[in-house]
Amino acid sequence: MDAVENVDFAELYEVQEGDGCPYCDGTLSFTKGIEVGHIFKLGTTYSKPRGDRTAP
Ligand SMILES: [Zn+2]
Repeated sequence: MDAVENVDFAELYEVQEGDGCPYCDGTLSFTKGIEVGHIFKLGTTYSKPRGDRTAP
């Protein structure tokens, strides 16, 4: 849990099926999925060979 040591406030809640939707009057339901998103620690693996640069 090193990543959250310097956080002053975190609203953590484990949603439950049937919880109210924060956007409409619906309720949350669980379903199977593969992956919503993933962050890869690739560093410059792809950017360096392409010569990608950021603006100063
Ligand atoms: Zn909704």
